[in-house]
Amino acid sequence: LTAKGEKADIVKGLDAGANDYISKPYDNDELQARINVGGRMLALQTDLLEARDALAYEATHDPLTGALNRRAILGTLEKELKRSGRRNSALTIGLCDIDHFKQVNDTYGHQVGDSVLCDFVKAIRSSLRGYDLVGRYGGEEFLVVAPDAVASVQEGLYERLRYRAAHIRTATPSGAVGITVSIGVAGVIGKTTVDRLLADADAALYRAKDAGRNRIEYASAAPNNAGLIGC
Ligand code: GH3
Ligand code: MG
Ligand code: MG
Repeated sequence: LTAKGEKADIVKGLDAGANDYISKPYDNDELQARINVGGRMLALQTDLLEARDALAYEATHDPLTGALNRRAILGTLEKELKRSGRRNSALTIGLCDIDHFKQVNDTYGHQVGDSVLCDFVKAIRSSLRGYDLVGRYGGEEFLVVAPDAVASVQEGLYERLRYRAAHIRTATPSGAVGITVSIGVAGVIGKTTVDRLLADADAALYRAKDAGRNRIEYASAAPNNAGLIGC
């Protein structure tokens, strides 16, 4: 409410951040109507912010499991690698692939397969520390990014994850379904690239599958990994 009714005063007030103005003397009904307009603007702004947040969530998360999607987890890995490169700190990734998952679908159907995927992500989450992240890398493959920790701690993390996955029991009309997971772990202290780390983890995962599944294999061939795993 202002006693200043000159054009220049009004412009100054609006420029300073006011959304509206009424000159004195004012009419109560008009004041109430303008307050209602302001209320509608605030409600619209709140709706827009909520819609923006929902879109941002959808753009970065897998709709089935709620894990980060592939783009988001790879973006996170890129950032974490930059950080660990700067600080010369340790980081590991674990490429986790559910064993014989096709058989789960073939035996119990796709919907049960979907439930198993959700239970698997819950099991991963319960195994991670607060700052570790998990994303859906592909169909039944999930990528864990574990920054800022010494390797021995992270070895415990992946073993915990493997153990918990092996104890998942997803209820179905024809009884409980269990799974196992194979994990390829690659690590670095200091600098490396996303592609290099993923290739190392992938090679380790292949070895885990070849060696009989339900196990963890660690990449050791990469020069950057020397001394990380097992220290
Ligand atoms: P391996 O132990 O060698 O990994 O065997 P696998 O059967 O797990 O591997 P394969 O690549 O043959 O099969 C993966 C299966 O995962 C096939 C595909 O239908 C299933 N899958 C991928 N995404 C989804 C999904 O979102 N829901 C369900 N139910 N199944 C999925
Ligand atoms: Mg696979
Ligand atoms: Mg598989």
